[in-house]
Amino acid sequence: MSDQNPVFIPGPTNIPDRLRAAMQVQTRDHRAPDFVETFAPVLEDTKRVFGTTSGTVITFPASGTGGWEAAICNTLSPGDKVLVARYGMFSHRWIDLCQRHDLDVHVIECPWGAGAPADKFEAALTEDKARDIKAVLVTHNETATGVKSDIAAVRAAMDAASHPAMMFVDCVSSLASMEFCMDDWGVDIAVSGSQKGFMLTTGMAILGVSPKALAAMETARLPRTFFDFSDMMAANASGGFPYTPPLQLIYGMRESLKMLFEEGLESVYARHFRLAEGVRRAVDGLGLKLVAESPALYSDTVSAIYVPDGFDSNALTDQAFNAYGVSFGIGLGEMNGKAFRIGHLGSLTDVMVLSGLATIEMAMADLDYPVELGSGVAAAQDYFRSHRAALVKTAA
Ligand SMILES: *Cc1c(COP(=O)(O)O)cnc(C)c1O
Repeated sequence: MSDQNPVFIPGPTNIPDRLRAAMQVQTRDHRAPDFVETFAPVLEDTKRVFGTTSGTVITFPASGTGGWEAAICNTLSPGDKVLVARYGMFSHRWIDLCQRHDLDVHVIECPWGAGAPADKFEAALTEDKARDIKAVLVTHNETATGVKSDIAAVRAAMDAASHPAMMFVDCVSSLASMEFCMDDWGVDIAVSGSQKGFMLTTGMAILGVSPKALAAMETARLPRTFFDFSDMMAANASGGFPYTPPLQLIYGMRESLKMLFEEGLESVYARHFRLAEGVRRAVDGLGLKLVAESPALYSDTVSAIYVPDGFDSNALTDQAFNAYGVSFGIGLGEMNGKAFRIGHLGSLTDVMVLSGLATIEMAMADLDYPVELGSGVAAAQDYFRSHRAALVKTAA
């Protein structure tokens, strides 16, 4: 294994040297005035990435899963009904978390490879005459299948049903890589984390919370202590933290925001689209198929790719790691053994993506896949040559 090889897992992502350096800070007193100066602008600037002016940014020392838990326990009570669709491992895990919190979870089962079913949400919400459904939960980017869902369409479905439920969105593997419009889409809580689009180490759950979700705290009875929004907001109001903050990550976050704004959020999204499109051309060039059912669903941060019948995707990812020291995402849940994933988010350039494609081709050839060496790489090269990025400073 060489540290010089990028990882092609869809999170945690490659950490640029600039961010590793930013996180190299000695212990500082989080009750001293300079902590306030560091932390307050981070919360403010993160709003831009969520696409919100009316929302509040709240962070916790946790992974994304902790962010899910915070969203639920601050806004809901035991027995509350929530509506959610299962179409991959991450939506599945969010359902499990809700069930363990004694919520009444109404699950719409979808094929893995599909996206959030706005029409089925609309039907379920219209049927809910008593308005018992308190929240609709949507995974924006299902990292297990490489599927991006249309959040605006879910909002339109909720509006068409004139339903007052809140909308909670998991954007852990999309925020800071694909466009996110919290206010425009009417998202009440958006949940993300530090280790994907923000290119940092794991350990900070990052949430965007709407005024409506904050108001729901008044009546929400699920227990919460560590994840209490009001404790956190009260401390944040004076630039502090209710307990010991993850100081190094906060310094990292400050620098990450700087990098994202220097490149420009639009350019960041365009770069992710270009990298993803290069990977998709390569998949096509190799004669392989994506798990995502249709182009509108293609994720710009991760591609899940079926291996041909009779091959084992775990053997492929093992071969890439053991022979070449490069990590790709394994198939999760239903996709285990059937599909592997290429993560193409965060600190990556065209050239890095080409190295990943070349590596997975070598591993395929080693395992006697019916592919021709270079056929995927060439398709990506053609695409990158004809869609060259301006050589500006990128986040990579
Ligand atoms: C990575 C990820 C999470 C969070 O997982 P953690 O390991 O708890 O950070 C949640 N949802 C999606 C879609 C993800 O990709």
